[in-house]
Amino acid sequence: MIIIMLGAQGTGKGTVAGILSKETGMPQVSTGDIFRKNINDKTKLGVEADKYISKGNLVPDDITVPMVEDRLTWDDAKNGVILDGFPRTIEQAEKLDAILEKMGKKVDLVVNLVTPREEIIDRMVTRRICSNKNCKAGYNTKLNPPKVEGICDKCGSPLIQREDDSDPEAINRRLEIYEEKTSPLVKYYENKGVLQTENVSLSINRMGADVARDLLEQIRQRN
Ligand code: ADP
Ligand code: ZN
Repeated sequence: MIIIMLGAQGTGKGTVAGILSKETGMPQVSTGDIFRKNINDKTKLGVEADKYISKGNLVPDDITVPMVEDRLTWDDAKNGVILDGFPRTIEQAEKLDAILEKMGKKVDLVVNLVTPREEIIDRMVTRRICSNKNCKAGYNTKLNPPKVEGICDKCGSPLIQREDDSDPEAINRRLEIYEEKTSPLVKYYENKGVLQTENVSLSINRMGADVARDLLEQIRQRN
């Protein structure tokens, strides 16, 4: 099963994808996480990608698309994946369709997370990640704090703020790009009949974990 997580920054895509992955056994394929790991390891791909990521711009398709294509061929992906952060443009969606078609697969479900703008900015600013690159657990100082301030519950490493989350210009740039380049994917997948929109907001007391629980129920019924 190929599931895509769609939604602006700070809507909880990573949280929902993480829960779905843990419960279904399908890997969470986060392009942002793969880039950050490569930046950390100073690989050629990482050095190149960082030029774009540090400014809040999209990494070009000639780097991003082959990276995802390769990831889809790994053994752990044979029963499906949860794509988190890809595709982000209509071109990427079309390229993904072509890749999947060659593999005899298709996009089965696109979860579109929607959160009010005021909450989004607040959630990006309060977001923290584990500095241990093999753990990379996500937290939020307000909504999902660790048991001990600044320390990862899972591995004890210090929590850090992503560089692009501490830069207001990079935050704004990413939200702008989302509106301009990524939000057209909502219509794209709606037309294919695979879109499911889910509201995530404090105002309705519905968070990522609630959405994930409902989705798991649905996924179980499909299988
Ligand atoms: P966010 O959703 O908060 O922007 P991600 O972790 O998904 O964070 O991505 C971090 C950065 O990695 C993005 O700002 C972008 O520069 C790059 N990136 C991630 N996914 C893609 C993609 N599908 N295409 C191009 N660039 C990407
Ligand atoms: Zn950790």
